[in-house]
Amino acid sequence: MKNVEIINKKPVAAGLVDYEKTHKEFSWEIIKREFDIDDDKVNIAYEAIDKHAKTWRKNKVALYWEGADGTCQKYTFLEMKKLSDKCANMLRALGVKRGDRVFIFLPRLPELYIGMVAIAKLGAIAGPMFSAFGPDAVRDRLQNSEAKVLITTPELKERVDAVLWELPKLEHIVLVNHKEDEELEEGNVCYKTLMRDASDIFEMEWVKLEDPLYILYTSGTTGRPKGVTHVHNDMVSHYITTQWVLDLRDDDVYWCTADPGWVTGTVYGLWGPWLNGISFYVFDGRFDAATWYEIIQNYKVTVWYTAPTALRMLMKAGDDLVKEYDLSSLRYVCSVGEPLNPEVIRWGLKVYGLPIHDNWWQTETGSIMIANYPCLPIKPGSMGKPFPGIEAAIIDGTGSKLSAGQHGLLALKPGWPSMLRAVWGDEKRFKEYFNINGWYATGDTAYKDEDGYFWFVGRADDVINTSGHRVGPFEVESALLEHRAVAESGVIGKPDAERGEIIKAFIVLREGYKPSHELEEELKIFIRHRLAAHAYPKEIEFCANLPKTRSGKIMRRLLKAKDLGLPTGDISTLED
Ligand code: ATP
Ligand code: MG
Repeated sequence: MKNVEIINKKPVAAGLVDYEKTHKEFSWEIIKREFDIDDDKVNIAYEAIDKHAKTWRKNKVALYWEGADGTCQKYTFLEMKKLSDKCANMLRALGVKRGDRVFIFLPRLPELYIGMVAIAKLGAIAGPMFSAFGPDAVRDRLQNSEAKVLITTPELKERVDAVLWELPKLEHIVLVNHKEDEELEEGNVCYKTLMRDASDIFEMEWVKLEDPLYILYTSGTTGRPKGVTHVHNDMVSHYITTQWVLDLRDDDVYWCTADPGWVTGTVYGLWGPWLNGISFYVFDGRFDAATWYEIIQNYKVTVWYTAPTALRMLMKAGDDLVKEYDLSSLRYVCSVGEPLNPEVIRWGLKVYGLPIHDNWWQTETGSIMIANYPCLPIKPGSMGKPFPGIEAAIIDGTGSKLSAGQHGLLALKPGWPSMLRAVWGDEKRFKEYFNINGWYATGDTAYKDEDGYFWFVGRADDVINTSGHRVGPFEVESALLEHRAVAESGVIGKPDAERGEIIKAFIVLREGYKPSHELEEELKIFIRHRLAAHAYPKEIEFCANLPKTRSGKIMRRLLKAKDLGLPTGDISTLED
C-alpha cells in the first residue's frame, strides 16, 4: 500500500455525521420505518412524487429541464403527480397491466421522467434505454424483456422500424413529439393526443415491496449486457444512500449527469433525489466543458454527481476555462462508474476548491455500496468505505476473507434492499453471482487497507499477471495520467511466452504533444520510477481516442481484442 496521501475536511453539519457509530448501529428495518409502509401495499411512485404533492413541497420544483437548444422548463411535484397520473391512465387504456414491461427509448426529455413514474404507478416494469442505442441494442433489449409497449420519438422510431419484425410481443409504440396532423402507422399512438384526453386522477396500483420495478441492462464493459431486475423495495436503499453519500438536503439544486439508460441515471438521477423531495436539473445535451460550467453557474447547482470520464475531459479543457465561471454554488461533488484517478481529485481540489468523492457500485447492487462520505477524510484513489448496513470483504475463490493489503475478489454479504432480484430470463446467470460460499461476487478485484478503505484494482478479467506479479490496469493508468503529456490511457495484459503477460498501454496525448519514440521511453521510465519496475508498460501505443461504452467507460476488452486480432464480442454499448 503506497498511498498515504489523505485529504482532511471540515466537520459536517447534517447527513452522515459519524460513520463508525452509524455503521455499528445501522439497521435497514429502522430506515424502512421512515416510509411508514405496508409490505403488501406500496409504490415507489407514491413515495417519490404523490406524497410530496400533498405537503408543502407541492409547489417545489421537482425537475428543472433544459434542452440542447436552450429551451427551459420547470415541473413542480404537484405537476409531476398530475402528469404521471395522466400518463399512467393513458398506458392503462393501452392495456398495460401490473408486471408488463414498458420500455422507454427517449432523449432526456421530461416525458422520460414522467413515463418512468407512470410505469411504476401501474405496477408495470420500466426499461429505460439510452437514446444513442442502435437497432441491434434496442432489439436485444425489447426481445429479451418481451416489452409490450415502447415510448419513443418519431426520429428514434426509425431505429426500431429496422427490427420491428423481430419483436412480435410489442403491441404499441407511443410517439412523443409526433405532429398531430401527421398520419400514424398501425400500432402507433400519439403521446400528446392521448395525454390531452387522459384524466389526471389515477387510481394507484399498490404493489408488494418485492414486485419488480425496472430492468436495466449492464454497461457491457466486460461482455453481453445482462438484464438486471430490481424491485420497489430498492427505494429503502435509494432513499438513504442519497442522503448519506450524495449529502442532499431540501434546499439543494442537484445535477446528476448520467442518463437514466444507465443505472446511475435511474437511481440517482430520478428515484433517489425524488424520494428525498430534492429538486434536480436535467440537461438533454451533449458534453461540452463550457456548457457544463454554465449550467452550474446559471442553476446554482450545489451538488454534482458525475463520472471520471467527464472529469478527465474537464481537466483536459484546462484550468483557465474554470476561472471564467462562477461555480461558488457548488458544495459537494461525487463521481462513479470507473476508478477515479488521484490526479483528477488533486486537480478538482485545485480548480474547484472541493474534493471529489468517489463511490463504487454496480447495476446489480442497485445503490451505492462503497463510498467516500462528507464526514470522512479522502484517500485519493480509494473508493472509500462500505455504506452502513453493507458488509464488503476481500475474499479468495473459496470465500475466505483475506487480510488487509491482499488483493482478492470484492464481495458483498447478500441481503441489502436494492440487491438485484433476477437477471431477466436468465436464472443461471443470476445464480452465478452467488456461487462463492454465501457471498455476492462483484467480478471486481480490490484490496482493503488497515483503516478499512477499499481500493479498486481492476475487473477480475482485466488484472494483469506479469512475471508472477499481479498488476491492476487502474494503477498503471492513474500513474500515466500524472505525466503532463497524457490525457487518457487504457492498459491491458498481452500474452507473452516468457512473462505470462506484459503490460501494454494505449495512450491519448494532451493537446500540444506528439507521439514519438522519445516520449515513449520517457513514459516507460516515468512509470518505472513512479510505480515499480515490473509495472511499467513494455509496449506503448499512441491513439486518437479509446474505445468506450456510451456511459464513458474504457472498454479494455476491445483494446485487447483489437490488439490480439480476436473477435470483438458484443459491441452494442460501444460509443460512436
Ligand atoms: P458489464 O457488467 O456489462 O460488463 P459494467 O460492469 O461496466 O458492464 P455497470 O454495472 O454499469 O456495468 O458498472 C459497474 C462496474 O463499474 C463495477 O463493477 C466496476 O468495475 C466499475 N465501477 C463503478 N464505479 C467504480 C468506482 N468508483 N471505481 C472503480 N470501478 C468502478
Ligand atoms: Mg458488471
